[in-house]
Parts: sequence; C-alpha cells; structure tokens
Amino acid sequence: LETATELDTIAAISTPPGEGGISIVRVSGKTALDVASEIFKGKNLHKVKSHTINYGHIVNPKTNAIVDEVMVSVMLAPKTYTCEDVVEINCHGGIVPTNDILQLLLSHGARMAKPGEFTERAFLNGRVDLSQAEAVMDLIRAKTDRSMKVALNQLDGDLSHLIKNLRQDILDVLAQVEVNIDYPEYDDVETMTSKLLREKAVEVKAQIKQLLQTAQEGKILRDGLATAIVGHPNVGKSSLLNRMLHEDKAIVTDVAGTTRDVLEEYVNVRGVPLKLVDTAGIHETNDKVEKIGVERSRKAIQTADLVLLVLDSSQPLSDEDRQLIKVTDEAKRIIILNKADLPMQLDTDELFNLVSEDQVIRTSATEGVGLDDLKEKISKLFFGGIESNQNSVIVTNARHIGLLNQAEDALDSVLQGLKDGMPVDLVQIDMTRCWDFLGEITGDSYQDELLDQLFSQFCLGK
Ligand code: GDP
Ligand code: ZN
Repeated sequence: LETATELDTIAAISTPPGEGGISIVRVSGKTALDVASEIFKGKNLHKVKSHTINYGHIVNPKTNAIVDEVMVSVMLAPKTYTCEDVVEINCHGGIVPTNDILQLLLSHGARMAKPGEFTERAFLNGRVDLSQAEAVMDLIRAKTDRSMKVALNQLDGDLSHLIKNLRQDILDVLAQVEVNIDYPEYDDVETMTSKLLREKAVEVKAQIKQLLQTAQEGKILRDGLATAIVGHPNVGKSSLLNRMLHEDKAIVTDVAGTTRDVLEEYVNVRGVPLKLVDTAGIHETNDKVEKIGVERSRKAIQTADLVLLVLDSSQPLSDEDRQLIKVTDEAKRIIILNKADLPMQLDTDELFNLVSEDQVIRTSATEGVGLDDLKEKISKLFFGGIESNQNSVIVTNARHIGLLNQAEDALDSVLQGLKDGMPVDLVQIDMTRCWDFLGEITGDSYQDELLDQLFSQFCLGK
C-alpha cells in the first residue's frame, strides 16, 4: 500500500472534452501549489487563504506569453476532494487553452493523472472507503433522480456503516472465542463458544440476506432495466417509443464499443431507468428489427429484463402475434394493445386464453393514452415494496453483491461446521473468511489489481 507521503502530484482536465463555457484543470498533491505558481501570474498562491478563488493569468514561463485569463481555486489539505493540496484552474473553455495549461503543468512537475486517480487518492488517503468511491461513479452515471439518491446514500456511507458494524460484531465474537480457547480449564467452554458463534452467524446472515434482497432493485436502479420492445411491423412500436422518449426527456449516452459506438437510450419511469435494447434497429427507417423478425426478437427477449410486446388492437390476432406471445411467455412482460383509439378488432377472448389479463394494458401512441398505466405496471412489476423503504440501505453494485453472497456462504460453513461438531478453531476460520469478504466491500482489504480495475472505469480528471 502506498502511503500518502509517497504520492506524487497529478494533473488532469476535469471537465468534459470539447468546447464549453469554462474548463477546469485540476492539480492534486504535495507540490500542487508550487507547480501552479510556476505558471500563474496574480496573487501569491502560497499566501492566499485556503478555499479561495483567485483571479490572474496563466503564463508560459519560458516565453512569458499569456495563455489564458483564469480563476484559480486553492484548497489546502486535508479538507479537499483528495485530502491533498488541490489547485483548480478555471479557464476559458476552449480546447487549446485548456490543453496548453495542462501541458504547462505537466512540464512543471505534475504527472498526468490516470482515469479516476483523484478519487483513488481520496480512497488511499482515507477520506472515503471503496464503496463510497464507487458511489462517486454511480452518481456521475445516474440516469434518474432515484438512481442518484441511492448513489448519494452510498456515498454518504450508509452501506459502509452497515458493513463496518457487521464486521465489528464478528470481530467481537472472534475475540471472545479467542479468550475462551485460552482458558480451556473452564467448564463448558466449548459449548459456550459454539453457542456464541452460532448466534452471531445467524444474526449476521439475517442482515446479509436482508441486504441481498435489495440487490435486484438496486442493480436495476444503478444499471437500468434492460427493456425490449417487440411486435410485428406497424403495430406502433416506434410511435410508443417516441412518446416515451419525449415525455421523459430520455438520456442518450454514447458507449464506446470496440468496433463501433452503441447508442444507449434510457427512459425514466417513476425513477426507474429503462434501458431500451436494440432501439437502433427500431429507429432506422427501414425497420431492420422488424424485417429480421422473430429470430432477432428472440435474442432481444433473452437478454431483456422486461419485454414490452406490442399488438395492434385494430387488427385481428395474427399468426406472428401468436408466435411472439409464445416466445415471450417465459419473460417478464407487458402486453400492450395499441391503437386503442381505433375500433377493437382483436379477439380479447382468444388473447386472455393465451395470457393472463393483468399482463395486458391498452394504449394509443398517437393520442398519448395509457402511458401512465404502462409506467404504473412496470413500476409494480419490479418495485413492489421499494416505494415504502426508500431510505433503507440498498446494494446496487455487482461486486458488492458477489461479496455478500460469498460472506453468506462462509456463514453457512460456520453453521454447518458447528452442527457437525467441528473444532471451534476450524469454525473460526470460516467466520474470519466472512469478515474478510465484507472487508473487501469497503476496501479494508483489497488487491492492487482491484483498484486498477475499478478506477480505470472512471472518467479522466475525476
Ligand atoms: P412500428 O412499425 O411498430 O414501429 O409502428 P409505427 O410506430 O411506425 O406505426 C405504424 C403506423 O401506425 C404509423 O402510421 C403510426 O402513425 C400508426 N400508429 C401508431 N400508433 C397508433 C395508435 O395508437 N393509433 C393509431 N390510430 N395509429 C397509430
Ligand atoms: Zn417502427
């Protein structure tokens, strides 16, 4: 583990690439003030108060040429994002001045920061634990207000506190077991110790189970609900999609792929981000998705958390409709009878023989009718009870979920060992494993590769 004193001074552009009103170049580290002072003309940055912003110019010391007019924030350790001295240069938001300033910093003692390295410093310097650092990224990526709230709570340390308490409880009982083992002359020590371990294992397991119960909802809030819209041509898929996208100001993000960029679109349904699968096809004028038909739908259906099957209620049920109903039978689905503004031609008796009536809703994409019902249904399907317990701790992160499962397994081994009459010092090993797994969530124990892998997913400059 690197200690704070060994960390060098890093710099990066912290605002998104491209032109903007303002760009911010951030510097952090022991020599942050020295580095910035080399290229800043204005007040003596070493003498200004901490947490002030100061007017001046960035000047290339070699040529004396002015690079930009800037405001420089000075924030002294330890009350900063990284717990180190931080200088933030607010410059005019052009690509050239911003890059020039960064280059000047790099040639005057700063090193280019890796993605997420400022947040990594906050972790290494002990300001946040690992689950809080991860929450920073979740916050940045949050697609809805509700996803954001969950990330904020995690950043605030809600999950960390819970995990730390569980670990402390386990530690206490392990210490007690140690004492008991050291005094074997006492009567019944073995029985007493087993009882202690069993009670604690049962208790911690119950809490872990409770946390894991929030995982499905949590993962959806963090990553979105993968949703496929299927149905044969002209039933109104594109129209419905457009309605949903318009009403809720969809967030469209670019995801850099290996060969080409994939467009991801999110619709905000009562705070639940619906991640629309394969909309690229749906948007294309020749409706590629529809041409490729059922086979393609089958694939989308398999990868989706939710399937919206759209039928045209102004037409009798077709063979292709029947096929799609069959194909989606296993999925979590909602069947949308669209074109409710037109006379009903679809035989609902036949439909309700094939599907349960409560899966079905009626909409008119052109009139904007039924979209609220649709949202209500989606929300109910995935978020039965969450409305009421919005303030409880929710696990959202696959890494955390995996570790909680491992911790639970370790507790099962503890309980099984006790049942089988295994010696207490062996049972203790499983209890300690549980303690370790929980510690990986907060980063009390971790491998360096984990840090690299986690923080490399961050944006540059964060
Ligand atoms: P897709 O092929 O399934 O994507 O269907 P589109 O959204 O392209 O719609 C096909 C046609 O049906 C278009 O002319 C739409 O205007 C029309 N349409 C879509 N939804 C409705 C609706 O609710 N009522 C009526 N009357 N027409 C609709
Ligand atoms: Zn279409």
